Amino acid sequence: MKLEMEKLISHLKTMGFVFQGSEIYGGLANSWDYGPLGAELKNNIKQAWWDFFIKKNPYNIGLDSSIIMNSKVWEASGHIGNFNDPLIDCKACNSRWRADKLIEEKFTEMNVGGWSNEQLENFIEEKKIKCPKCDKTNFTEIRKFALMFKTNQGVIEDMTSTVYLRPETAQGIFVQYKNTQRALRKQLPFGIGQIGKSFRNEITPGNFIFRTREFEQMELEFFFSPNDSKNWFQYWLDNVQDFLENTIKIKKENYLLREHDKDELSHYSSRTVDIEFKYPFGIGELWGIAHRGDYDLSQHQKVSGEDLTYLDPVTNERYLANVIEPSVGVERLLLAVLCQSYKEEALENGERVVLSLPNNLAPYKFAILPLQKQQVEKANEIYLNLISKTGISGTFDDKGNIGKRYRRQDAIGTPYCITIDFDTDNDGCVTVRERDSMNQNRVPINQLEEYLKENTK
Ligand code: ATP
Repeated sequence: MKLEMEKLISHLKTMGFVFQGSEIYGGLANSWDYGPLGAELKNNIKQAWWDFFIKKNPYNIGLDSSIIMNSKVWEASGHIGNFNDPLIDCKACNSRWRADKLIEEKFTEMNVGGWSNEQLENFIEEKKIKCPKCDKTNFTEIRKFALMFKTNQGVIEDMTSTVYLRPETAQGIFVQYKNTQRALRKQLPFGIGQIGKSFRNEITPGNFIFRTREFEQMELEFFFSPNDSKNWFQYWLDNVQDFLENTIKIKKENYLLREHDKDELSHYSSRTVDIEFKYPFGIGELWGIAHRGDYDLSQHQKVSGEDLTYLDPVTNERYLANVIEPSVGVERLLLAVLCQSYKEEALENGERVVLSLPNNLAPYKFAILPLQKQQVEKANEIYLNLISKTGISGTFDDKGNIGKRYRRQDAIGTPYCITIDFDTDNDGCVTVRERDSMNQNRVPINQLEEYLKENTK
């Protein structure tokens, strides 16, 4: 059964995962807030990325750089001037569209990322592509639309105080490459990763949290010698897939790899592979892996005047490091996880919605559910003991009938429901029900911690 986005969005709101931003004021277009469960799930995804790419990888270290940087950074990176999308207006209804997406949404098998404005205009005219809002075919010429949010720093608003909100976290890494390398005494190859907010004034945000103007990225810039013969591109492509399949549990059949052809490659890239996820509204970019050569370091060296070369301790040569960049949006990964996990199931006595989240990502790993009033105190003691001593996140619910309490935990993806009953007093055991199979197990209270740790890693 194909998942309807409206159903998912409504479920996530009801259950406290994602709310419309500024809702009591009528909202702000395409802005979303993460409720308590969404915040937990998002944090678990970020933590999993940090563990895999920073803590458990022998080459990489982390960074946390500013959102607002010296505007020269964006001059050097090419964002001022080059970071545009092709904007086209419908003359009939005045709605505005991104010309490349107008084509790709109509011809879903096409990718026109590398086309010139002229090519896009000709194709729209030739194929008589209609305005999605009013169905007319009467468009303006394409204009470049700058995607960076501009603001002013300090008390005087003039040209010299113009600053930008970063449209990617990567440049913060390049700017601190030298400091980081020296302070940590790193030798090539090594990588610097960071997680943080990025902002793009997208022409047509949409598809829920897939394309928003404020989002989070998890980016790694991996630096290596231009003389290094190891295929680092393949190494990172393999690592990304390993992380997706084994840590985030994205199924192989739900994603695909797409190699950019020559026309589509960005000016700085010699190779780019996108990992695309099969979202319910269509196939969309989840993760981009790009070979950026020494483009960024050489640009920053040129514009800043700082020497960013690396002195090779073995050959005594000086050179600029080359870079492989795997870059992913937190919300796009979150959406992929949610789309894959949401299920509606018929049961003997009704139906249930279940979020089959990977156990390691679930907001709550367990729920303690006392069956009767007499067990509330004992249940509460077990609950407090587990959360305070083990740090495993869990919840407690003693309200309503047990069936409904199970349904609620299924709907928010809690892998284990633990019930305390009369037998608990006699045998020191509790009943643990597994979310997906609904199988039940008796587990001694003194082994609960180990049981949960083992099963929610
Ligand atoms: P798209 O073609 O979808 O606009 P992009 O190629 O511009 O994406 P990159 O610049 O490669 O994206 O950014 C790296 C990652 O950041 C993307 O793979 C995606 O996961 C995420 N990302 C980019 N733009 C957005 C956005 N507006 N909202 C949410 N996530 C985004």
